[in-house]
Amino acid sequence: MPAAPTDSEVWFLTGSQSLYGEDTLARVASQSRQTAETLATGAGPGPRIVWKPVLTDADAIRRMCLDAEGDDRCIGLIAWMHTFSPAKMWIAGLAALRKPLLHLHTQANRALPWSTIDMDFMNLNQAAHGDREFGHIQARLGVSRKTVTGHVSDPGVARRVDAWTRAALGRAEFARLRLARFGDNMRDVAVTEGDKVEAQFRFGTSVNTYAVNELAEAVDAVDDRTVLALTRSYADTYALAPELRPGGERHSSLRYAARVEAGLRGFLTDGGFAAFTTNFEDLGGLRQLPGLAVQRLMADGYGFGGEGDWKTAALLRAAKAMTYGLPGGTSFMEDYTYDLTVDGGLILGAHMLEVCPSLTTATPSCEIHPLSIGGREDPVRLVFDADPGPGIVVGLTDLGSRFRLVANEVDVVGPPAPLPLLPVARAVWRPEPDLRTSTEAWLTAGGPHHTVLSTALGREEFEDLADMLAVELAVIDGETTVRRFAQELRWNQAYHRLADVR
Ligand code: MN
Repeated sequence: MPAAPTDSEVWFLTGSQSLYGEDTLARVASQSRQTAETLATGAGPGPRIVWKPVLTDADAIRRMCLDAEGDDRCIGLIAWMHTFSPAKMWIAGLAALRKPLLHLHTQANRALPWSTIDMDFMNLNQAAHGDREFGHIQARLGVSRKTVTGHVSDPGVARRVDAWTRAALGRAEFARLRLARFGDNMRDVAVTEGDKVEAQFRFGTSVNTYAVNELAEAVDAVDDRTVLALTRSYADTYALAPELRPGGERHSSLRYAARVEAGLRGFLTDGGFAAFTTNFEDLGGLRQLPGLAVQRLMADGYGFGGEGDWKTAALLRAAKAMTYGLPGGTSFMEDYTYDLTVDGGLILGAHMLEVCPSLTTATPSCEIHPLSIGGREDPVRLVFDADPGPGIVVGLTDLGSRFRLVANEVDVVGPPAPLPLLPVARAVWRPEPDLRTSTEAWLTAGGPHHTVLSTALGREEFEDLADMLAVELAVIDGETTVRRFAQELRWNQAYHRLADVR
């Protein structure tokens, strides 16, 4: 299984200086600890927020930042200048820091105690200018960060810190991700290609290819007891088609699908891989294109891309890591076909087989049907409709000189009519602001046809992630016009060329 979010930490730093004396510093410490605890209380089941002792000199700040860089559990830092912390003390530390930073501009008190305020209070509660000093040095040094203002008891503040924390976990997941490709890209396809060396430099992700027959050997080596246990669990979990049930005429196909799942899972576990790709053009000794297995591995948090698409597989794994504790689902997706008549236009998304069942709360049906490509035996797959709800579609492309993320806010809707003859899992959505604008913008940005669809995450999580990865994110939302969007792409082009220091 991929790493658990609770293994990760966000460090909470408080800046001050020695000028104030022990009593004041003790109060700074107790109030900042309380602030960190309030944040942690609302934070749910994800990374732990770890309070660190108040920082009062340059050496301690530098040491803290170096420790954060060296500690694999630490995915990012929150910093707050409760008092005034002269910012030249922060230069060496911030220069050494590459992990994500959130500048929390808050106060211990929510209300100003007008009738009792005195100079002691003023001395203790001066984030209004302490954080300005910190903002200045971050701007001066070009430190990438998110700035969040408000009292930590404010749900809006907690929500924005939560989005950043999820993004930091996504970034950490990119950085530690090992991705296995079974075969190469689908022949002649452009958008699934990309620079794997640049990806490892930018994201940290290691992408390597394994002969598909290594996987086929692992599949063939699975023992019958494992196969039996898995087919029983399928029967308990899904609505099994009668022909796939024990005694059914195609039960042996279900047994082979179980064998593929166990073999694939074992291969990924043994190699420490949290994402993978397949390619229907290169199946070696596999008798079925992995369908059910891929769907179930995605549901367990693995990233996946079809046709060798490692960029989408990596993005999906990062997105999966970011969804801890949230309702909704997150899946590999492909824009397939449109309804141009309904409600401003609808997109039907699916793939040949590989859509993650996290998108539905209903019981998927487990079926077997022919597949017109791949030239192998009929594959077993789960069939369902994605639950309705707001979502986001995100794609990662390689423009040659750099990567670009494109995102579209969408409304997943139920299909307007039953789809009795379409034997694959699918999602139907209405893109913001409408199909024409969405697709004209998406095509203008060169966005891919393979994407990640999430009804768990939203725009802010991906904005924060893009900032942390220093990758462009072009967002198509309810406010988008094609003209403005095209201008934005041009500005971004100039910005990213100027910002690239290499
Ligand atoms: Mn595809």
